[in-house]
Amino acid sequence: MLNIGCHLSVSNGFENMGKQAIELGGNTFQFFTRNPRGGKAKDIDRKDTDALLILMKNNNFSKILAHAPYTLNPCSANERTRQFAFETMADDLKRMEYIPNNMYNFHPGSHVGQGVDKGIELIAEVLNEVMREDMTTTVLLETMAGKGSEVGSKFEELKAIIERVEIKDKLGVCLDTCHVFDGGYDIKDNLEGVLESFDKIIGLSRLKALHLNDSKNPLGSHKDRHEKIGKGYIGLDAFKNIVTHPALKALPCFLETPNELEGYAEEIALLKSF
Ligand code: FE
Ligand code: FE
Ligand code: ZN
Repeated sequence: MLNIGCHLSVSNGFENMGKQAIELGGNTFQFFTRNPRGGKAKDIDRKDTDALLILMKNNNFSKILAHAPYTLNPCSANERTRQFAFETMADDLKRMEYIPNNMYNFHPGSHVGQGVDKGIELIAEVLNEVMREDMTTTVLLETMAGKGSEVGSKFEELKAIIERVEIKDKLGVCLDTCHVFDGGYDIKDNLEGVLESFDKIIGLSRLKALHLNDSKNPLGSHKDRHEKIGKGYIGLDAFKNIVTHPALKALPCFLETPNELEGYAEEIALLKSF
């Protein structure tokens, strides 16, 4: 069975996101840990997170995915910006322990002219500060589109970050289909080749989640504009190949397509039909 869900709003509460996921036909979901533009997160209501854990258990949920605010930049040239990323991620990871054994995804960041190598070094530094031996959460680096000076659009860059992180058993990768396609990896016509190269460079055992998004732009355009499943340059056949691929089919998948809830339900049904 496909483990699939979509991005939901945390402002409805944790248990309600679980209920929503079920209503949409899914068995997992993604949410922003706080307003994507940053700011303070709502206090955790323990009753609510406990209710979600029970719901997840009773409904065969796969792991759920928390997404850090996309405005964080752990490899900024500005020390205060890096400090803000550190504080936010540390706080998020503390809060994640109320829903233990799940996953936390973040964008590696933009090196803003300092060069990729410096970016990689700074990202690993932040990870080594926020990750703890006793945490239950797996931290995921998201594959990026390579817009501007984004780090993480090449598998080699993600590998270089992983190499520098001390607590490697709690570190993984979330592959975003729109982003890798934008980054020049042809998952449409050469999925096998892309996965082979992922395996050779990073190792497929690091791959813990998929973001399923079609792309509004052709291969290698570095634009990061998500499209509805089957309506973009990646196309429906490719998504069929992805969700049924032996190396991928057990991974939790998360839709971040431009949709209202109804559209998500349709895409979830479509992908499950494969
Ligand atoms: Fe993301
Ligand atoms: Fe994504
Ligand atoms: Zn994106």
